Amino acid sequence: AIETFYRDSWVEIRLDAISHNIQKLRKHIPKEKKIFAVVKANAYGHGDVQVANAALEAGADALAVSLLDEALRLREHGITAPILVMGWIRSKDAPLAAAHDIAVTFFQKEWVQEVKRVELPCPLKLHMKWDTGMGRVGIRTLDELESLLAELDDDRLVLEGVFTHFATADEEDFVYFERQRRLYKDMRAYLEGVWPKPIVFHSSNSATSLRFPGQQEDMLRFGISLYGLYPSPVVKAERPIELQPAFSLHSSLVHVKQVKKGDCISYGATYCAEEDEWIGTVPLGYADGWIRQLQGIDVLIDGKRMPIVGRICMDQFMVKLDQPYETGEKVTLIGRQGNEEISMDEVAAYLDTINYEIPCIISSRVPRIYY
Ligand code: PLP
Repeated sequence: AIETFYRDSWVEIRLDAISHNIQKLRKHIPKEKKIFAVVKANAYGHGDVQVANAALEAGADALAVSLLDEALRLREHGITAPILVMGWIRSKDAPLAAAHDIAVTFFQKEWVQEVKRVELPCPLKLHMKWDTGMGRVGIRTLDELESLLAELDDDRLVLEGVFTHFATADEEDFVYFERQRRLYKDMRAYLEGVWPKPIVFHSSNSATSLRFPGQQEDMLRFGISLYGLYPSPVVKAERPIELQPAFSLHSSLVHVKQVKKGDCISYGATYCAEEDEWIGTVPLGYADGWIRQLQGIDVLIDGKRMPIVGRICMDQFMVKLDQPYETGEKVTLIGRQGNEEISMDEVAAYLDTINYEIPCIISSRVPRIYY
């Protein structure tokens, strides 16, 4: 369904880029490996249902999210593919997960004991999380593994998978990564020695999937690169596969005027014209996620770079134009116009952060349009 909106700022999501990125990954890794499309956080701000469907159609096997709420939303929209919640859920919500055939993550003995005391409508699929060095959630020792396994003495609990997450897989130096991998291998060897039933193992994020295609486990969890972004500048420089960015952000000029030398622009009057200048107003601001620290970054108009001048307001900002333009002239904040491009990576570097953060902070007030 096309949502109606009445504003002149929008995000374009190219679903063919999502398909392209999955297909490229497919060719990059051995055929039998299965792919989780990581669509947590509204598919990194791209739109969960649309991206999930595109990824599944293009060959992803399952979906991974962070919250039970996110998984339920996918089910409500008719998605029947396997879904894993990678974050912690409340033990009292386990019946809800089971009822919707949503696999959940666990790593606490007490949590399993609590789940065993609740009424489950059907068996609950579980993935055990191992903390091999991320320091976030998961078990860290063989003792913990042993006592957690001992709790799985209930037919309603199905240990479907085991996973870990790497903290430095996107970096130049592999020392810490290798340390995590060694610990993971030891834990895996122990588990396989004592657990008779089949288990799916998965540890690869985008960086590990792209950099070590020949060393993949049963499944991999493909997040940032599903969206056409490299996990770090290091991996981008290696360019293991050619990715296509799916996300671009656009607006248009709603007002154009000439200001006189010495006239100032926006809150705080931090920018004053050094000569008579053309100034355009763009109806997008920090409430849309175009945060105040982006003051000074370029936007694209008429295929050319032009800087944001003065403070970014909640709903609007101003651009210094090279010439007068008609109102309605397209403004691209992330994406391409002609030969010029402002990439997600450029915006991230400007903010001294990672590309992951940028599509996530473009707020839901900005409509997403799918192609
Ligand atoms: N697996 C887990 C547990 C995660 O938290 C994430 C995302 O942060 C991913 C996989 C996907 O990682 P990436 O986006 O780097 O591919």
